[in-house]
Amino acid sequence: MVHGTLVARMAEARRRGNVVAADRGAANGHTPDGRVSRGEPPVAETVDVVVVGAGPAGSAAAVELARAGREVLLLDRAAFPRDKPCGDLIGARAMAWARSLGIAEADLAPYSRLAGAHVTADGGALDLVPVTALGRMPLRRSDARVVPRVVFDQAMVRAAERAGAVVRQGTVRSVGPPEPEGRTVRVEGPGGGEEILAGGVVLAGGYGCRVAADVATAPQAGDPPRGIALRGYFGNVAAPPDRIVFSLDRWVLPGYGWIFPLPDGGANVGVGTLVRPGEGEAEHLRELYARYTEDPASPAAIWLAGARPIQDPRSWPLDLGPRRRRLVADRLVVAGEAAGLVGPLTGAGIAFALDSGAHAGRALARALASGEAEAGALRPYAVSLRRRFGPWLRAELWAQRFLSDPNRVRLLLDATRPLPPTAALGARLLLHLG
Ligand SMILES: Cc1cc2nc3c(=O)[nH]c(=O)nc-3n(C[C@H](O)[C@H](O)[C@H](O)COP(=O)(O)OP(=O)(O)OC[C@H]3O[C@@H](n4cnc5c(N)ncnc54)[C@H](O)[C@@H]3O)c2cc1C
Repeated sequence: MVHGTLVARMAEARRRGNVVAADRGAANGHTPDGRVSRGEPPVAETVDVVVVGAGPAGSAAAVELARAGREVLLLDRAAFPRDKPCGDLIGARAMAWARSLGIAEADLAPYSRLAGAHVTADGGALDLVPVTALGRMPLRRSDARVVPRVVFDQAMVRAAERAGAVVRQGTVRSVGPPEPEGRTVRVEGPGGGEEILAGGVVLAGGYGCRVAADVATAPQAGDPPRGIALRGYFGNVAAPPDRIVFSLDRWVLPGYGWIFPLPDGGANVGVGTLVRPGEGEAEHLRELYARYTEDPASPAAIWLAGARPIQDPRSWPLDLGPRRRRLVADRLVVAGEAAGLVGPLTGAGIAFALDSGAHAGRALARALASGEAEAGALRPYAVSLRRRFGPWLRAELWAQRFLSDPNRVRLLLDATRPLPPTAALGARLLLHLG
């Protein structure tokens, strides 16, 4: 329906006897006269923009691009609805973004608003739930909820579809270098392989997405360690239904355990930690998880005593920020976790994903409309991302290092417990993280 001028130009170029393909040359599997060489999939379509990855960052970008009148193809290697190992905490900032991007209220309705948080550390506990009307003031606009990603991400994909994006299953194998008319995206779908010529690309493939060689930065000295977390779902959990539980006991540091409530006595339960080279992280993580969920001495034991696991736990790594990443290139923007936007203290990244995805979509739409989609025209997106998120990510990194000492955690807990404003401010902080 929405055909931009670029698509028309591309179609014209292809009508002119594969001029585009001929220009691309043999590197992309085309013979000099424009015919597709043997074994290479043909350029089957042209679109204004391909979005790689239909997580929160990709869906947000697709919504904004479609709203700007662009023809958008949102590709994901998974068939939706798909699960993504996560704590499922959709914080207040993320929820505000999801609404502004058009998520349907009916999809959120079963999941109730959180009232606050509960933090435990080495036998101490801090309940961060304001009880007075004054104390609740800082939370009056907070609508943080726990929504399983299998539901939330599907709801965001539907929002992108409603905005006009086309959603399709397909694994992007590579995004070719920039050329005068676009970039060639090689896709492997259930029906086979194809090449798509895209005027612009949003890279939103989450952890470890390296499909575009010109932005696939190797890990840099000074990058924070990666995170890894293991998450399971339980039924019959006795934890408070209106607050998120964080456990910062010394044996889980640097990292934490969590119990995040779901309807009808369900909960998302997990542990996360930092990856240290050569540590045997998978085994270490499983031990932490077993201790957190099964050991009678665990801070979670009082809530999980009668609980039953609903499915096997799943682990997933995290590209904790701040990372030195290339965020723009000619005809390409990077968003979400692929851009290293995950809080190094909390592991929260959904708000960053929605925010950066929406801004990436707007930046690319503007650039394509002006006919100037090279890196220089897209650089303001990268600059604004660094300006807005850099200080926050650095502060989280500092806090993560400071709080990896169990004595400091306990000191903080004991020092803040008697202060009445703590509940309001602590709850606001924790519910705004994701
Ligand atoms: C265990 C765990 C718990 C977490 N808990 C929270 C939490 O409670 N709250 C919070 O805010 N954050 C949390 N996070 C972080 C959060 O999950 C991520 O920051 C967030 O998912 C990033 O969103 P994204 O859209 O950038 O990437 P993703 O959500 O990872 O989506 C990327 C998508 O791209 C697709 N994809 C990847 N490569 C390709 C390809 N080549 N071709 C096609 N498709 C591709 C994937 O299938 C996927 O659907 C947690 C992370 C982990 C691991």
